[in-house]
Amino acid sequence: MAVKHIPTGEVHKGTKGGKTGCGVNTNLHSSHWQNTLERITCAKNGCKN
Ligand SMILES: [Zn+2]
Repeated sequence: MAVKHIPTGEVHKGTKGGKTGCGVNTNLHSSHWQNTLERITCAKNGCKN
């Protein structure tokens, strides 16, 4: 599963309501996040691998 950060269009590993692979808490700005089936584009450790 992947989660998209809508303001930047970046796709991270993880799901809305939890933490991304790179450690961002999606609950802090929950309206900025959306579950997606898109390919992960975040290049940070934890999302990329
Ligand atoms: Zn990430």
